[in-house]
Amino acid sequence: MIRHDYSRVDPKRRANIDHKKRQFANPEFKQQNYEHRLNYYILPPTAEITLEEFETWAINRLKVLSELEACSFRNRTPEETAEYMTSILNKYMPLRSNSSRSQSLQEERKKDHYSHFILRLAFSATEDLRRRFSRLETMLFRLRFKDDDLRERKEFISNLNLEWEEVGESEKREFATELAAASGIKKGDEQEWFKVDWERVPELVEQRKVLLKRGKAYVPQREQMSLVVAEFTKRLDEALELTARALPRLDEDDRLAPILAHLSQSFTSPDAAYSSSDASIDGLSAPTANSIDTLSKHFPLCMQNLHMTLRANSHLKHFGRLQYTLFLKGIGLSLDECINFWRRSFKLMTDEKFQKEYKYNIRHAYGDVGGDANRRGRGYTPYSCQKLLTEPLPGTGQSHGCPYRTFTQDNLVALLQRTGINDRDLLKTVREDVSKQRYHVACNRVFEHAHKREIKKVKDDGSWSATDLDTILHPNTYFKRSWLLKHLGEGNAGMANGGDKMEE
Ligand code: SF4
Repeated sequence: MIRHDYSRVDPKRRANIDHKKRQFANPEFKQQNYEHRLNYYILPPTAEITLEEFETWAINRLKVLSELEACSFRNRTPEETAEYMTSILNKYMPLRSNSSRSQSLQEERKKDHYSHFILRLAFSATEDLRRRFSRLETMLFRLRFKDDDLRERKEFISNLNLEWEEVGESEKREFATELAAASGIKKGDEQEWFKVDWERVPELVEQRKVLLKRGKAYVPQREQMSLVVAEFTKRLDEALELTARALPRLDEDDRLAPILAHLSQSFTSPDAAYSSSDASIDGLSAPTANSIDTLSKHFPLCMQNLHMTLRANSHLKHFGRLQYTLFLKGIGLSLDECINFWRRSFKLMTDEKFQKEYKYNIRHAYGDVGGDANRRGRGYTPYSCQKLLTEPLPGTGQSHGCPYRTFTQDNLVALLQRTGINDRDLLKTVREDVSKQRYHVACNRVFEHAHKREIKKVKDDGSWSATDLDTILHPNTYFKRSWLLKHLGEGNAGMANGGDKMEE
């Protein structure tokens, strides 16, 4: 049997795709000019970009799509979603209209264009990914379409050549009553109508907003957005199918394959890098072994569970210790204090056993010993939700991982109740979330419930923006945001994400 291992490329074939060899070839790449803010993404990108741009642009778009998905999981209305997404979009993917006369229009549009195509590659491999990607890209397109400059929107639409058939005067008169009944527009009111195959506007047909006749849907002009959006989705779905077929060839490029694999994993469970700013919190004095009990009420459930298990058993198994040590390091606990913390927590253990069997691992996690030269001094990075949500499930007696995923629903509810979460509606929704494997959505829901008064306050007084309150994807972000919110007005009402310097 022949083994197809696409990631290891035959050197002869590799020679054909070596990008360096292209330097003497005729130029094949060219910059595109983006006339419109909106894009149907018909033409693939044709200019060169660096690998770094390739990755960062895709990660930024992924952040936008993940936040959009979180909005739909949270049943936010279109208005709430638009409001929430404004600052997220401004931060990660600004896209201004021509009338803004911004100098960076072309750059913004290029990033939008390229990042769409990169994610298209990353998410076309399976039916499930394709469906999600298409749904979220459609949401994004609709959001942008709605707030587009009216004149520019009109120009964009007329450029699309969508081949809508205009309904003539005689036909309008013939079906006047039925058109009025189907659309709710008063008979006699001036209105343009378009005729299209009904399959092109499933949304309008489902909502009974159009008249159906002989396989055609009669669409009033005010529903034009649905037509444009439905066409966007249709074309994207077709393009995704084609991309899926071309994917095996792309696997030959070993520069892109790992990036694409990481992106599609991040789509399954959004990732967030640990931010060095999470360790320095204005107003919080350096944590010590003694302060962990008090601080633990701001910990996310994964860490509270470890803390409670540790207190109950005076012990934690290896992976739990590692997860918790890295988290504590991430909130700013020094190595000495961390060793102190574990020494006191393992109170049934002799000092000799602790020194011999446990201390080394703590120092190792902090980068004080072992590891390669790069890692030494830094140690390991605190785990993100993605890591905790995708690692193998804990075995008997182990308590690491994310309880939203590792606990049965009943045990999860009991654990939440132990931490003071008793709201029945909330617990019911949490059950629904976890049954659909939306673990981090459940966690964010619990966070927002536990901090609802404070969140309302910072929103109302405008001291925090939507990006400061975006979806939490890292246990250390959870802690920092919780602590800041519960200590508002103590000279630290700064933003939860302040200083966004990301570290590996
Ligand atoms: Fe911890 Fe993340 Fe799970 Fe929340 S979603 S409990 S922060 S791993």
